[in-house]
Amino acid sequence: MSGATPQSAQQEKSVSQTAKAFAAQSPTSGLAPSTIRRRIPGVQDVQIDILYCGVCHSDLHQARNEWQSVMPTVYPCVPGHEIVGRVVKTGNAVTKFKAGDIAAVGCMVDSCRKCASCRAGEEQYCDTFPTLTYNGEDKQLGGVTYGGYSESIVVDEAFVLRVSEKLNLAGTAPLLCAGITTYSPLRHWKVGKGQKVGVVGLGGLGHMGVKFASAFGAEVVLFTTSPNKIADGRRLGVHEVVVSKNDAEMQKHQQSFDFILDTVSAEHNLNAYIDLLKRDGTLTMVGAPEQPLPITVFGLLMKRRQLAGSSIGGTRETQEMLDFCAEHNITCDVEVIRAQQINEAYERLLKSDVKYRFVIDIASLQ
Ligand code: NAP
Ligand code: ZN
Ligand code: ZN
Repeated sequence: MSGATPQSAQQEKSVSQTAKAFAAQSPTSGLAPSTIRRRIPGVQDVQIDILYCGVCHSDLHQARNEWQSVMPTVYPCVPGHEIVGRVVKTGNAVTKFKAGDIAAVGCMVDSCRKCASCRAGEEQYCDTFPTLTYNGEDKQLGGVTYGGYSESIVVDEAFVLRVSEKLNLAGTAPLLCAGITTYSPLRHWKVGKGQKVGVVGLGGLGHMGVKFASAFGAEVVLFTTSPNKIADGRRLGVHEVVVSKNDAEMQKHQQSFDFILDTVSAEHNLNAYIDLLKRDGTLTMVGAPEQPLPITVFGLLMKRRQLAGSSIGGTRETQEMLDFCAEHNITCDVEVIRAQQINEAYERLLKSDVKYRFVIDIASLQ
């Protein structure tokens, strides 16, 4: 990051600095090198030189404005909310971090901090909506926030997480979204020993769902559309892999699940999974397909089944998850790429061709 001042705005000199980034300029432009502004750290801020940033399917949805009806994209858009880096500067009031520490930033960089959800440490459900790491309202500089496909970021310490230096850092970055988004619902619905749990989709979120559900002691069944992932499912610790296109295999599991976590990013048949739940079982959606999905209500009411959703996780639980991962040596399976490969990586994501998270080596931005 350089302290250079945008030539036209003398006043910005004191409040912002520039950073290299990869940005989308429109839904169809793809991502390309760009220069963005970051604020000069305030008293409670931590400035981080980013080392790795994971590539979430949400980045693709947002960069291409696929969530237009819920969260329209403001361009230029710099995605990335699975950030691990090294602290380079801290404001005078910062107590948790010092220069040289490894630190992480996830999907949020601020929230109202006053509502019941914020006070409960569940800022992702903030009444006024949290400030997302990218495409959120930038309250300091104006415009929108820019994410981790960038050489640095400045964040209030309340939204910066501690990371154990014992963990592989590239494999740690995706914990900040794929990790917490699966950890949180598995904890909320108290998944554990004695339960039969399904995970639908073996992508970034799905492979972490499998790792956590197994670590919590559940019997895990993986549902995949990709027969070439069967061996990996077993390696990751699942009891059984079901190829979901095979009706006979699906039939075998009717009415047998306590809990199913659906991580699928595209249109698919939810009713087929509702039918696999026991009485009082829960299907929780974390996948966020672009289009609405039809539900056969009878599938729910005949067995008092529940259909639920879950969004990322709060700062308190994200720290708990990172500490759990350090203790149990859990990281994501990653393919490290250069920033220049991001458009190709998006195309591969769409083909379910990633094992199991792309992570950008931010040194490639230099
Ligand atoms: P990903 O790595 O692309 O994984 C998605 C997986 O879904 C694929 O690997 C594939 O698994 C399966 N899949 C893809 N297309 C399918 C189709 N047409 N029918 C059935 N299965 C299909 O994506 P991700 O990063 O894990 O994200 C998954 C979804 O979660 C995205 O929509 C993302 O935006 C959303 N998300 C939500 C939250 C939240 O807070 N709730 C947070 C992060 C991400 P198989 O090859 O095994 O079938
Ligand atoms: Zn994400
Ligand atoms: Zn709030």
